[in-house]
Amino acid sequence: MTRPLLIGVSARIYYPTGPVLDLGGVWSRTLHYLEQSFVHWVISRDVLPVMVPAVDRESLLRRTEISLHGYAGMLDGLLLQGGNDIAPESYGESPLAPEWRGDRIRDRYEIELLDAFIEAGKPVLGICRGCQLINVALGGTLYQDIPTQRPDALPHLDTAQYDHQFHDVELVPGTRLAGLYPGVRRASINSIHHQAIKDLAPELEVEARSVPDGIVEAVRWRGPGYVFGMQWHPEFLAQHDWHETQLDAHHILQDFLQAARQRRDAPTDER
Ligand code: MN
Repeated sequence: MTRPLLIGVSARIYYPTGPVLDLGGVWSRTLHYLEQSFVHWVISRDVLPVMVPAVDRESLLRRTEISLHGYAGMLDGLLLQGGNDIAPESYGESPLAPEWRGDRIRDRYEIELLDAFIEAGKPVLGICRGCQLINVALGGTLYQDIPTQRPDALPHLDTAQYDHQFHDVELVPGTRLAGLYPGVRRASINSIHHQAIKDLAPELEVEARSVPDGIVEAVRWRGPGYVFGMQWHPEFLAQHDWHETQLDAHHILQDFLQAARQRRDAPTDER
């Protein structure tokens, strides 16, 4: 019997911030976590998501005591979860406002993870922050805050609506993404982000844009491997009653898992 696909998942990180969550106990500690609807979107009889914790200088063990390359060798693919903002320092800028300083620890850890998986020739799928991280890791930049830097843009975040905030995207014809949806040019997706890609990394190709503001919503690496990022949250789409104007994210997940299966079953010397 073939073993299940083992898909590495980057940790979401919760930092205790004092009075905001005055819950005490475990909430007073830094938490690494998987968001339930996200892992439920991925897990199945044949697919096991495995969280790879982040390590920084505050950790009990040193960075040299673990090997992200070793993990990438054992796992069949990588999912980058959504979550905290990317730190402007990660793309050579300073925060325009203190609340946009982002999470530099998570950036460093996820960029290393991404490098290790690219190096191992294992597929990578980035969600929301994960899409932005792929762009930054490959040399691109971000809008630190869409409403400030692109006042012409649609609302891409509504904290009250959260995952019920939707807008349309246009799939770029001829791309792998468009190929997953024959006959679909435009569809509705959810939008829960206030940052977005500003300068596209040189090795990335845009596969979907928001309509009509043109904000980048999906990117793919042109290099010799499977690296895809989408700005929307497929796991929340899968949870709600799906209707036909919305992009069915099942096809994107299956495409990614198929690439992971092919890599797992390829002869070990094949890169
Ligand atoms: Mn959006």
